[in-house]
Amino acid sequence: MSKIILTGDRPTGRLHVGHYVGSLKRRVELQNSGEYDKTFIMIADAQALTDNIENPEKIRQNIIEVALDYLSCGLDPAKSTLFIQSQISELCELTFYYMDLVTVARLQRNPTVKAEIQMRNFEASIPVGFFTYPISQAADITAFKATTVPVGEDQLPMIEQTREIVRKFNAVYSEVLVEPEALIPENEVCMRLPGTDGKAKMSKSLGNCIYLADTADDVKKKIMSMYTDPEHLQVSDPGHIEGNTVFTYLDAFCLEEHFERYLPEYANLDELKAHYKRGGLGDVKVKKFLNHVMQEELEPIRNRRKEFEKDIPEIYNILKKGSDTARETAAQTLSEVKEAMRINYFDDAELIKDQAAKYGE
Ligand code: ATP
Ligand code: MG
Repeated sequence: MSKIILTGDRPTGRLHVGHYVGSLKRRVELQNSGEYDKTFIMIADAQALTDNIENPEKIRQNIIEVALDYLSCGLDPAKSTLFIQSQISELCELTFYYMDLVTVARLQRNPTVKAEIQMRNFEASIPVGFFTYPISQAADITAFKATTVPVGEDQLPMIEQTREIVRKFNAVYSEVLVEPEALIPENEVCMRLPGTDGKAKMSKSLGNCIYLADTADDVKKKIMSMYTDPEHLQVSDPGHIEGNTVFTYLDAFCLEEHFERYLPEYANLDELKAHYKRGGLGDVKVKKFLNHVMQEELEPIRNRRKEFEKDIPEIYNILKKGSDTARETAAQTLSEVKEAMRINYFDDAELIKDQAAKYGE
């Protein structure tokens, strides 16, 4: 069986370092590993509209931002198909048929959707499209027969929902759809990177992000004002590591070689943490170190972005080509789905013959 990747992001803003460690970095590694037959990367504009109907222009404007972030991180259109969800109308058709395979009660149990409804104050007035987006996500994944979906931890309930739809479809009709596996980060802190304010998740909607496109200066400012340990007032005070965002980010970004380069008096992160816990290590020193580490990772991304920004029409061209390729694959799956559902009436010579026989022709 082919190994196929599908994943994507909602164009609700520029991408941030949470996306990067949660999914984007891994995608680039997988794309370059040569182990996958195909990689599809989707800008989920239709999904983003489900909870942004008051501001559709925001979605339209951010498509190019997400595409620039993709390219600057190393997603390569020669190796990955980059496309826009709304341009593949086959996805809507699949969603419509999958809706029959899912109950309202099942959708209501989805913990990520529950949390998102709360966060958006949708309790009294959930748009139907938002409520059903896990079904549309199942269409996105299965249209490409994806085997592997690299995502952050919050997406696990969506993948589980997709797997259930696949099993149900294949049992009711025939084995057409492929059950995907989620691929979540191995490093636990990367599954859900907190915001710079220490809140549970860095999220475009919460305004607590370090963006991939932020200038070096902005990144530094954000790091220097990051949430640490509120009880660590004096340098000499013993400090806490747990819930201390600066250390969480070091867990996500820092390698042993960074110590040689930027903080040679420590051999590794364990030594640095031990000193902080003992007392005698100030936040500013740790933050300056984190700044070096993050700038090293972000600078090449930022520089590549500047190059890509010089030819915006070409970026749209890449997305158009990708959307054309994606449409071909989705159309093929949709045709198999309709055949399995036996709603391909005009291609079904036997049906036409049997019906004719009924009327004695
Ligand atoms: P929105 O607020 O519009 O939902 P978002 O910041 O949650 O935006 P998404 O486009 O919903 O971003 O998520 C894209 C991908 O990035 C998903 O795979 C998601 O799991 C992952 N992701 C998002 N935020 C984080 C984070 N803070 N840490 C790790 N992974 C994340
Ligand atoms: Mg989200």
